[in-house]
Amino acid sequence: MEILDGKIVSAKVLENIKNESSIIIEKAGRPPGLAVVIVGDDPASAIYVRSKERKARKLGFHSEVIESNSSVSDEELTSVIAKLNIDDKIDGILVQLPLPEKFDTWKYLDMIDPEKDVDRFHPVNLGKIMLGRTNIYPCTPSGIVRMLDEYNVDVTGMNCVVLGRSYIVGKPMASMLTNRNATVTICHSRTKNIPEILSRADLIVSAIGIPGFVKADMVKDGSILIDVGINRVDTREAAEEFCTSKEIEKFEKKGYAITGDIHPAAFEKSSFYTPVPGGVGLMTVAMLMDNTFRLFLARTGS
Ligand code: NAD
Repeated sequence: MEILDGKIVSAKVLENIKNESSIIIEKAGRPPGLAVVIVGDDPASAIYVRSKERKARKLGFHSEVIESNSSVSDEELTSVIAKLNIDDKIDGILVQLPLPEKFDTWKYLDMIDPEKDVDRFHPVNLGKIMLGRTNIYPCTPSGIVRMLDEYNVDVTGMNCVVLGRSYIVGKPMASMLTNRNATVTICHSRTKNIPEILSRADLIVSAIGIPGFVKADMVKDGSILIDVGINRVDTREAAEEFCTSKEIEKFEKKGYAITGDIHPAAFEKSSFYTPVPGGVGLMTVAMLMDNTFRLFLARTGS
């Protein structure tokens, strides 16, 4: 079994952006610009937003975070996005999800100018992904494909199973694998007999959010296992069952640890797998920077 190493591949993606962007920024007379809109006080969202901001700044991008508390009105939020749509410094706009419950998420995602939609969740962009008519994709599935490419994994003709049908991961992932000539099955909470479907898979992408959901006896020898799940476990017992040794150490200090959806014993049977942490999550942030850079290139005609 070989690790698809998110640390190595994401560093390469960021290095490429840095190398390519310096001359182009000089010519364009301005850096790529990323704006993140965050509403409410979800601690996980706040951590993700800070990490996006740090990465953008490190690359020399212009980075803005527009924070509101959850009492912000619909009009105010609408006006924030409308202003960003016409702000020349901004190439990519992202609304950090989830929004607090009272907000109609699609209303705001629909409002983002599709040309500045850096997450690629606007219906126009999701449609283009289905049709294979774009080269900018949602960050998580895009990061997965980038990792597969880096390790020369060609999915043509493979039986691929995508667990989870969100528009953030599952659906665009399935489209991207289909466009790359894989045979794709999507499973979700109402799918019958998931273990049997998994047992035939050459490649599994799991984006469900349940620790240890994919067990060793469900996967075949030599399969490729991509773990998208980010789950927090709060007991020592769970940490010892599901987490890497480094995460178990962290549990001692923090009282919680992070794991994915795939049981560590399943990784033992794989040909390639992505660890959590250190896999898909790092790629997601790197591809956000890559998407921002691509939108900047398109908007500046570079
Ligand atoms: P979601 O949380 O919106 O939905 C979960 C999906 O899992 C649904 O499609 C549901 O049908 C399916 N599901 C739930 N229980 C199931 C079951 N018992 N059997 C089969 N399917 C089941 O999905 P999401 O936003 O794609 O997030 C999924 C996981 O991926 C979460 O843990 C999230 O934190 C993580 N995530 C990680 C990254 C990353 O960069 N690594 C990015 C996005 C999401």
